[in-house]
Amino acid sequence: MNELTNPPTQTAKQNIFDFTLEELGIALESAGFQKFRAKQIYHWLYVCYEEKFDAMNNLPKDLKAYLNQNFTTQKVRITKKEQSKDGSVKYLFATDDNLTYESVFLKMKEDKWTICLSSQIGCKVGCSFCLTAKGGFVRNLSAGEIVYQALAIKKDQEIPSNKAINIVYMGMGEPLDNLTNVTQCIHILSELNGLSISVRRQTISTSGIAPKIKKLGALNLGVQLAISLHAVSDDLRTKLMPINKAYNIQSIIDEVAAFPIDSRKRVMFEYLVIDELNDGLDSAKKLIALLNKIKAKVNLIYFNPYENSPYKRPKQEKVEAFREFLLKKGLLCTIRESKGLDISAACGQLREREINQKG
Ligand code: SF4
Repeated sequence: MNELTNPPTQTAKQNIFDFTLEELGIALESAGFQKFRAKQIYHWLYVCYEEKFDAMNNLPKDLKAYLNQNFTTQKVRITKKEQSKDGSVKYLFATDDNLTYESVFLKMKEDKWTICLSSQIGCKVGCSFCLTAKGGFVRNLSAGEIVYQALAIKKDQEIPSNKAINIVYMGMGEPLDNLTNVTQCIHILSELNGLSISVRRQTISTSGIAPKIKKLGALNLGVQLAISLHAVSDDLRTKLMPINKAYNIQSIIDEVAAFPIDSRKRVMFEYLVIDELNDGLDSAKKLIALLNKIKAKVNLIYFNPYENSPYKRPKQEKVEAFREFLLKKGLLCTIRESKGLDISAACGQLREREINQKG
């Protein structure tokens, strides 16, 4: 494990990564500067990966002084990273109020990268298979704290600024429980003068809070949707994800059916395959019936056991038979590659270990 930078400095200055281009322009204008300077600043931050205002050499001196006085790029730092043999990397971020959260960088193929972002520190949803849930909910991440994960990882991985990356809001937390900040983050990440990550490349992955799926749909952001389904019966789903008591499988399916989705895209249903629990062909059959009217794609994920986890990793033959069954019935299905098995790959593991070591 690599120790990286010093902890971030605590400051009352505003996190510049919280601002959309428009908002930054308005802030500059009201301080007596020209609005177009915001574009230059965005270019430095998100295209040149430059975080020091003094190094932004096309800005006038008085603007640099204003930025140094009122804004900071130092609210969050990468404090640790773990590299897996397969190229995936887990990052631990620290906030200036001494909290930590994590992100995962996945190298899919040559020139294809996905970054899995956290949206909250801890989580209220309480899924029984998830380490993040064990620590309870601490707080929402600000838009800038979410944005910075994508920027810092792209920079650390030396991905040229003109190369597109994919974003999934699938790290710690339930993104729809922090919808305001996640929406702001989507706007910032997709800004053409900045990181320019098209909304079509951004996927919100939710545990299935039905009314909030509706709310997200009404915002019509153009993002992709992924649902953590994991079970085909309400009994099992409630055991795995207690939130199912409030929003059962059918209520989620109904909202997904009404969700505005790009005609070329499909809604992704994540299905965590757990040994002897949901890996049988009877479950596969029910899944087909359930997704019958939806333009869906299923992503099977091997459950990745952690210390004292109550569930086991499924057998490869069973996961493959499950996929074959779905494919034969015409339902698109992939198996997520087992990325990062030699690092703390399951959600919340790196942070959990850090907290245990300190405590
Ligand atoms: S799996 Fe996701 S939604 Fe469920 S408790 Fe963990 S972080 Fe929250």
